[in-house]
Amino acid sequence: MTTLDQLREQVRGPVVTEQDEGYEQARRVYNGMIDRHPKVVVRCADDTDVLATVGYARDNDLALAVRGGAHSVPGFGTNDGGVVCDLSAMSAVLVDPAARTAWAQGGNTWGSFNHATYGYGLATTGGIVASTGIGGLTLGGGIGYLARAHGLTIDNLLAARVVTADGRVVTASADSEPDLFWALRGGGGNFGVVTAFRYRMHPVRDIMAGIFFFPVDRAADVLASYDAYIADAPAELGAFPAFQIAPPLPFIPPQEHGKPFSIVVACWSGPMEAGEKVFAPLRDAAPLVAEMVAPMPYPALNAMFDELLPAGLQHYWKTVFSPAMTPEVIEVHAEHGPRVPALQSTMHAYPINGACHDVAPDATAFAHRDAKYATVIAGMWPDPADNDANIAWVRDYYAALRPLSQSGGYVNFMAGDDQDKLRDAYGVNYDRLVEVKRRYDPGNLFRDNQNIVP
Ligand SMILES: Cc1cc2nc3c(=O)[nH]c(=O)nc-3n(C[C@H](O)[C@H](O)[C@H](O)COP(=O)(O)OP(=O)(O)OC[C@H]3O[C@@H](n4cnc5c(N)ncnc54)[C@H](O)[C@@H]3O)c2cc1C
Repeated sequence: MTTLDQLREQVRGPVVTEQDEGYEQARRVYNGMIDRHPKVVVRCADDTDVLATVGYARDNDLALAVRGGAHSVPGFGTNDGGVVCDLSAMSAVLVDPAARTAWAQGGNTWGSFNHATYGYGLATTGGIVASTGIGGLTLGGGIGYLARAHGLTIDNLLAARVVTADGRVVTASADSEPDLFWALRGGGGNFGVVTAFRYRMHPVRDIMAGIFFFPVDRAADVLASYDAYIADAPAELGAFPAFQIAPPLPFIPPQEHGKPFSIVVACWSGPMEAGEKVFAPLRDAAPLVAEMVAPMPYPALNAMFDELLPAGLQHYWKTVFSPAMTPEVIEVHAEHGPRVPALQSTMHAYPINGACHDVAPDATAFAHRDAKYATVIAGMWPDPADNDANIAWVRDYYAALRPLSQSGGYVNFMAGDDQDKLRDAYGVNYDRLVEVKRRYDPGNLFRDNQNIVP
């Protein structure tokens, strides 16, 4: 059995315990509501460090939290009394421009990944916030601006290097460990530590970004108009409707700051000259209060919300998949959206149509290919004193939407108290996921996640 001293000798990265400087920061994750105290945080430098960390947790029968970007809202990137395998120092990206592929180490954020690939004029579907990790986001499915054109992030995953519970390093792909490769594409962190991902890349360099603010009492018109347009809009349009309190940004009239709005955020990755025309049906949905339309590097749009969403906010989220914006669904949004209680809190309805629908429900572990929207009610606020009001807003909104939605939800947006919805979240794929889990992690070493119990 490895001791802590032996672990320190085996790894190159820092090993941080309560007695070490930096522990307070090392134990924390992005969600400031999470207040856990792991026994040890290992800042892994390479695959060998990951192997040693996994072995230490397994042999000492300690809980093991794997941390990529630390964005898990339920706080799966830390634990009490266990081991944290922190990948954040493993952030190399190697682009093969001729093959249009990229290997990226598991500790990258979308910010570091997009920056590295931008120089080659290449991108793949990733999250809308730069500080989110590629690790958790990819393993849960991956929804973002480029999804309508290129599919979910998992639809662009070509291979993964994995450290398994029994201490092997394997490469999972269509040709090697195919069951593991299938399960990794949507099954979350249940099957091992992915130390590197290989993605298919697409020619995306500069995009046209658009943000449109409409009066909140016109939300029903905005949502109905958006819903009709996005069904067949050009695939290079990534756009989602939301509710948002106006931040003090220069393009918003000062008298509107602090008021709630119905908004649409858009990214056009097709030919730049077509952008304004493609945006027109979005912006014509209702009279505009403010708009921002500008060409910019794709990584700049990806980083646009990061200042609004620093680490340490309180987070409580709920999610549903919806087949359509029916009049009943729109009525719920029009009632609850305008009550958004904090500047950072929001509702986003991400379209997962277009290329996401080209993949069969059982081709990857992500089953809800027939959904049109992955909707997230994301409570995010700075002051713990406001917890009750914000959590109540999320729960009431969710309670009203749930009867009108498909069962289950997107695992990456699910809350810590949603474990009972996992079978529905995986639908037709749940039983096969359990089988693969039994093969690769029969002892459930990887259980600090939306857990598929072997
Ligand atoms: C501000 C914000 C914006 C978001 N935007 C989007 C979005 O646009 N699209 C979207 O699809 N989702 C989005 N999400 C949800 C996001 O996908 C999940 O929170 C995801 O789990 C974050 O991954 P991470 O690596 O940052 O998190 P972590 O907390 O580090 O990890 C999350 C889970 O994944 C596992 N994990 C992480 N990396 C690895 C790895 N390399 N190997 C094995 N297991 C691993 C962890 O064990 C844990 O269970 C957003 C979340 C936040 C907070």
